[in-house]
Parts: sequence; structure tokens; C-alpha cells
Amino acid sequence: RFITLEGVDGAGKSTHTVWIADFLRAQGLDVVSTREPGGTPLGEKLRALLLADPMGLDTETLLMFAARCEHVRQVIEPALARGAWVVCDRYTDASYAYQGGGRGLGAERVAVLEEWMQAGQPDRTWLFDVPLEVARARLADAREPDRFEREGAAFFERTREAYHARAAANPGRIRIVDSTQSIAEVRAGLEAGLRELLG
Ligand code: C5P
Repeated sequence: RFITLEGVDGAGKSTHTVWIADFLRAQGLDVVSTREPGGTPLGEKLRALLLADPMGLDTETLLMFAARCEHVRQVIEPALARGAWVVCDRYTDASYAYQGGGRGLGAERVAVLEEWMQAGQPDRTWLFDVPLEVARARLADAREPDRFEREGAAFFERTREAYHARAAANPGRIRIVDSTQSIAEVRAGLEAGLRELLG
């Protein structure tokens, strides 16, 4: 099974990625917990470039997909093939949201690369959703902002809207989580969803 977590920065998905992986391990499952951009030695180098260096939109999009292809071929597909569960913090929906929506590339150009990559879709995607003010407050407490997190409110809103468009277009796969809830409330919802997947 392949699970991804998505959402704008500050929505809390990284915390929940760790919790989901621990929950599944406690069921005795083989679990690979990973993230994008990154997840492989080369992918982590690309991540450092992507988060720090200014670059054109096409370059940014292609590097995201370069890191993703490496991750899919080296980590995700082999894990799924041996029957492991993969829990991934961000995946292709993030490119629809950030490059497609936030930066204005458009969904069609992202779809071309998704098609080109020839990888499977996640079985379940949780989209952690919070309004701008909440996300900003959480980020301000958490860490030094990267190149994307320094963007303004309009970028954030376009990204969030593009995520909602993805959820509307993929209602079976993507579930929206109200991430203004407490961590305990979010976990209760995730646990119910995980039990559904466990069957
Ligand atoms: O989720 P995480 O904080 O690890 O993501 C790293 C950064 O990369 C974030 O600031 C996110 O906005 C950005 N990103 C992006 N496009 C993607 C994936 C991540 O702009 N496709």
C-alpha cells in the first residue's frame, strides 16, 4: 500500500507522517517512511538545491520530477514490490499544487511529466488543510523559512486552491483533513482511515 501526505507548509503533515508510520509498524507491517523532494542520496542533494537556489519554473519542475523519478525507481517501487507499506511526505500532488498552482505552470504541464514518469498513484492521500494565518503562525514557531516558505499570501492561496482542485478531481483517493483540529483529533481520523485500508 502506498500512502501520501500533502498540504501547504505549516499544515502539520510531517508530524503525522511519523505517527502513521509508527502506527503501521505497531501492526507488525514492513513500513518505509520517506519524503519528497528527497528520499534518496541524490534526491536529498536536489532538495538542497531546490530549497535554496533561485531558478526558473521549468527547471524547478523538472528537478522536482528528477528527484521523484529517482525516488520512485530506487525506493518506492521496490518497497511496494516486496509488499511493504510506503508512507511518503509529499508526492506528485505537491507539483500540481506548488508548480502548477502556486507558480502558475498549470495542471496540464505537470500532467505531462506525471504521465512521462509512468508511476502508480497512491492508494490513499491525506490532504492537511489549514487557513493561511494558522499555517504562518505554526511556521513562525518552527524553523527558518526555505525559498518557498518565504513566498507571500497569494502564492500560498494559489497552492492551497490547487490542492483543493486535486482533491475534487480525485475524490476516492484524496481525503481532506481539517488540520486546525488538535493533533489528537487528527490522529483519531487518520486511525479510522488506516483501519479501513488495513481491511
Ligand atoms: O514538506 P517540506 O517542508 O519538506 O517541503 C519542502 C519545501 O519544498 C516546501 O517549502 C514546499 O513548499 C516545497 N515544495 C515545492 N514543490 C513540490 C514539493 C515541495 O515547492 N513539488
